[in-house]
Amino acid sequence: TDRLLTPARTPEDVDAALRPKSLDDFVGQQAARDNLRVFIAAAKARGDALDHVLFFGPPGLGKTTLAQIIAREMGVGFRATSGPVIAKSGDLAALLTNLEDGDVLFIDEIHRLQPAVEEVLYPAMEDRALDLMIGEGPSARSVRIDLPRFTLVGATTRQGLLTTPLRDRFGIPVRLTFYTVAELTSVVTRAASLLGLGITADGAGEVARRSRGTPRIAGRLLRRVRDFAHAAGHDTVDAKAADGALNRLEVDKLGLDAMDRRYLTMIADIYRGGPVGVETLAAGLSEPRDTIEEVIEPYLIQLGLVARTARGRCLNAGGWKHLGLNPPAGSQD
Ligand code: ADP
Repeated sequence: TDRLLTPARTPEDVDAALRPKSLDDFVGQQAARDNLRVFIAAAKARGDALDHVLFFGPPGLGKTTLAQIIAREMGVGFRATSGPVIAKSGDLAALLTNLEDGDVLFIDEIHRLQPAVEEVLYPAMEDRALDLMIGEGPSARSVRIDLPRFTLVGATTRQGLLTTPLRDRFGIPVRLTFYTVAELTSVVTRAASLLGLGITADGAGEVARRSRGTPRIAGRLLRRVRDFAHAAGHDTVDAKAADGALNRLEVDKLGLDAMDRRYLTMIADIYRGGPVGVETLAAGLSEPRDTIEEVIEPYLIQLGLVARTARGRCLNAGGWKHLGLNPPAGSQD
C-alpha cells in the first residue's frame, strides 16, 4: 500500500541518522529497556553471549533499532536478514557459519521462516550446532558442526504467530507496546533537531498525537510537515502549522487516515456496527486480512473505537462518535 500512515518500512524511512544508538538514547519502552540493561550487563560480566531475544509488537515500534542497540551495547557485530528472504535451509546454514564470536543475528518477520529452515535453527539456538546431511540415499549421513556463540534476535508482530518449539527457545521475550503521546513528543523533538527543523513544544505534541503511537509514523509525518513549512517559507513549526499540514495530508485528529475511516465506515454503514467477520471486511476493503489484523486494527482497538469479539468486529461508542454518527437504536453498542 502507499498509505502515508502505513507502519511498514519505505526507503525514505531507512534514515540511519535518526535511529537511537544506545539504550539511553532510546525513548519509551521503559520496562523492556530496564530488563535488557540487566541482561546485557549480566552477560557481559559472565563473558558470554546474550541469550536469544524475541521482540514482538506492531511494526515501526523499534524492534530493529533495539536489535542494533543490543549489538552495540554488547560490543559485537550485527547481521540482519528476514524470514521470507531465507529460501532454503542451506542459506541459513551459510549465514550461521559465517557469524563471528558473539554476533547478533537479527531475523525480522521470523514467523515467516519455512518449516525446513526453522528446523535448522533449533539445534543452532540450543546447542550452537548445525546438523548437516552429507550425501544422498543409503550412504547419507549427518554431521554436526559447532557454531560460534551468537545471539539470535527475532522480530514478529505477534508472539502467537511463532510455532511453540521456536518460541520456547527464546530466553528473553520482549513485548513492545504503542508509545504514549509524551514519549512520541520526545521522539519528534529529537528527530526535528537532527533534521535541523525548528519545532515548538505544541507543534511536536500535535505531530505526536497523530502518529498512531508509532515512532516510524512520527518520523514520516514530521518530514511531510517540514515540507509544508519550507514551502510556506517558515523555518519553525508550531501547532497551527502542524495541524494545517496534517489536515492536508488527511490525517485526522486521532491520527487516522482514509483507510482507517473506510474500515470504520464499513462496519457502521453496511453492518450496522457489527459484529462482522474479518474476512468479510478484508473482501469489502480489498485489503489482505493480515494488513487489517496487524496494521489497521491494533491502533483502532487501542483507541477503543473497535472491539474484536468471538463473533467478529464491533464498533464501540467511541467509533460511532468519531464518525459523527449515532449507533442504531436497539444495538448492543
Ligand atoms: P520495527 O523494526 O519495529 O518495525 P524500527 O526499529 O525499524 O521498527 O523503527 C522504526 C523507525 O522509528 C526507525 O526510523 C527508528 O529510528 C525510529 N524509532 C523507533 N523507536 C524509536 C525510539 N524509541 N526513539 C526514537 N526513534 C525510534
